[in-house]
Amino acid sequence: MDTSKLRLQLRQHINCLSGLFKPAFGRERIFPAALYVHRFRCGKPTCHCAGGEPHSRLVLSIWRNTNKKTVCSAPSAHQEVLRRHTEAYRQLRQTRAKFRLWSKRTLQLLDKLEQARTVSLSDLGVKEQNPSEKEQL
Ligand SMILES: [Zn+2]
Repeated sequence: MDTSKLRLQLRQHINCLSGLFKPAFGRERIFPAALYVHRFRCGKPTCHCAGGEPHSRLVLSIWRNTNKKTVCSAPSAHQEVLRRHTEAYRQLRQTRAKFRLWSKRTLQLLDKLEQARTVSLSDLGVKEQNPSEKEQL
């Protein structure tokens, strides 16, 4: 690919960066968890859920360490606050993931530009010597 197209791609790619960090400047407190509705059937044959709507409850999935998570019911009195804090957390993590992809793409473009801009010895009119000739110098 020619260098002018690559430069244009790099410029457009860099311009995408400014909007990427918007969630990082938010002031909302974060809570490292996901809030979701868990729907389930209890298994009792006489329960309404057996033939109709399943039970549902709001659940918090909390990241304790890097991999471990705890699942618990979200207290109904704090659902709105939890929703805001977990949404802010989700957006912040998403920003991080997008930046990682952005960085990877940046490196790809820089490598392509390096390759496209590199001149060879023959382009410079330099004749490469074989090893035996080098020893004689
Ligand atoms: Zn049931």
